[in-house]
Amino acid sequence: MASIYSAIKCPYCGRSAFEDDYYKSDEKYISCLRCGFNYSKTMKEGINNLFEYEEDRQEGHGVFSLVKKDGKREMRMLNYHLTNNDIDKYKKTFLEKDVDQEKSYLVTYEAETFI
Ligand SMILES: [Zn+2]
Repeated sequence: MASIYSAIKCPYCGRSAFEDDYYKSDEKYISCLRCGFNYSKTMKEGINNLFEYEEDRQEGHGVFSLVKKDGKREMRMLNYHLTNNDIDKYKKTFLEKDVDQEKSYLVTYEAETFI
């Protein structure tokens, strides 16, 4: 199905995010690679065969991006509050031998500021 993919301002942190707009069905997906904000509006079949929209909104608490030297990439949107333990754990994975440290990063977003 056709969709319009565009860069928008993240409704959560105000940085640039991506919006995928399926204009025919009015379904929509937004994801922000800066704060991890996620939004989706999808069509679900409801009672009496009527379609209804289901909205899902996940607050962003950061983004973890790990790039290996062989080019493999793992990206995780963090939709929960990170403890110092969590942050240490992520930082430790950056020190592994096969990790491309220049391309890997961890962004944490708490109380509307980037740490
Ligand atoms: Zn954002």
